[in-house]
Amino acid sequence: MNVTYDCPHCGRATRTEFDEQSSHLTCLHCGGEKAIPTGAVQSAGMTRCVVCPSEELFLRKDFPQHVGVTIVVVGLAASCIPWYFHNWYGTFAILFTTALVDVVLYLVMGDMLQCYRCHAQYRGTPNLGQHEAFSLETHERHRQQQARLPKGPPAAGTLAGKDGQGA
Ligand SMILES: [Zn+2]
Ligand SMILES: [Zn+2]
Repeated sequence: MNVTYDCPHCGRATRTEFDEQSSHLTCLHCGGEKAIPTGAVQSAGMTRCVVCPSEELFLRKDFPQHVGVTIVVVGLAASCIPWYFHNWYGTFAILFTTALVDVVLYLVMGDMLQCYRCHAQYRGTPNLGQHEAFSLETHERHRQQQARLPKGPPAAGTLAGKDGQGA
């Protein structure tokens, strides 16, 4: 199994293989290490994110959203051609095919796990069925927590001497 996450040392997206015995994730770019919390990875599945380490992970399709959107946009654009020539049957056929391609791709793609908090993506982890699908409520809770974090009051000294320039 592997995890794709933003390295806390160099800030770049990296992908690292790990298993139940792994104690660290090592960044491909800078070699920076991140300790895996004990018990996070079990043969029965993931109990928490190994990066942040939130316990809230959701199940999603391993299907980049922009690919789906691109297919729809291309389909819509293509359907304008027969529409221009008043070929309603052709217009409908193209739109229908576009929707069908999207649905088939969605069904064919595998599942993966994603962390609500740090957006780390997990592929190949065991027992995916125990995880729940995306919940907007949980997502919103994490988003609001995150929005509050960088905007602390600029008083009482900086937290642990950080300069807060993470990007
Ligand atoms: Zn790094
Ligand atoms: Zn996380």
